Amino acid sequence: MRQQIAAANWKMNLTLDQATHLLDEILKAPHDLQAHQKVVFAVPFPYLLLAQDKISGKLNFFTAAQNCYTKSSGAYTGETSAEMLQSIGVEYVVLGHSERREYFGESNAMLEEKAGMALTYGLTPIFCCGEALQVRESGAQNDYVEKQLKESLFNLSEEQIQKMVIAYEPIWAIGTGKTATAAQAQEMHAHLRNVLARQYGDTVAGEVPILYGGSVKGSNAKELFAQPDVDGGLVGGASLIAADFGQIIDALK
Ligand code: PEP
Repeated sequence: MRQQIAAANWKMNLTLDQATHLLDEILKAPHDLQAHQKVVFAVPFPYLLLAQDKISGKLNFFTAAQNCYTKSSGAYTGETSAEMLQSIGVEYVVLGHSERREYFGESNAMLEEKAGMALTYGLTPIFCCGEALQVRESGAQNDYVEKQLKESLFNLSEEQIQKMVIAYEPIWAIGTGKTATAAQAQEMHAHLRNVLARQYGDTVAGEVPILYGGSVKGSNAKELFAQPDVDGGLVGGASLIAADFGQIIDALK
């Protein structure tokens, strides 16, 4: 059964005390999750070990880094390698978030290297893709997002692509309060699954979780996650509010 994931992207938010409190609040609530349903906390690097500690013993809960570098070690001041993340027990890594693409110049080619590195060290990449508003307004969103996938992921083997999670995050919906409609999300997710199927076949494409990201909240998660090709969400703002993120976890089908 395809996995369903509620992933929290805290971005560059919270102090240590606030992070501790938020994790405690979210984790104290009972969530009736099945084996294929997962919750992933993409916390800032300084809080990864804290989050690892808080989720220990909780079967459906995992941590993610928000980035990793293209190299495994060396003179790259300020960077963090996939190998380091593996060594502390992190299981996921968010790659290619639109903020990294825009503010840090991450290209499809660089993300191809990062995805390869993450997979080499046993991390599951949550690969973000998505179009800006002007691309959507011109009607070119399907081609745009398809190109992101092709240029970053299509040199991966069948075995590797099955280990990926994809997050479709239209840039015009990130942090804007403007969510894609459930129909818009489903249309793009179905397109992405088709793109994967053309390259890797239906069975493989049917196994890759595709998350939606862009102003997901407790109030709209259920409708979005009810779409057949929407396998959960990558959540920014609402993941910083325990009650809201709790509702999002409970919206996993
Ligand atoms: C994100 O950071 O990936 C995101 C989707 O943010 P938000 O939920 O705040 O739109």
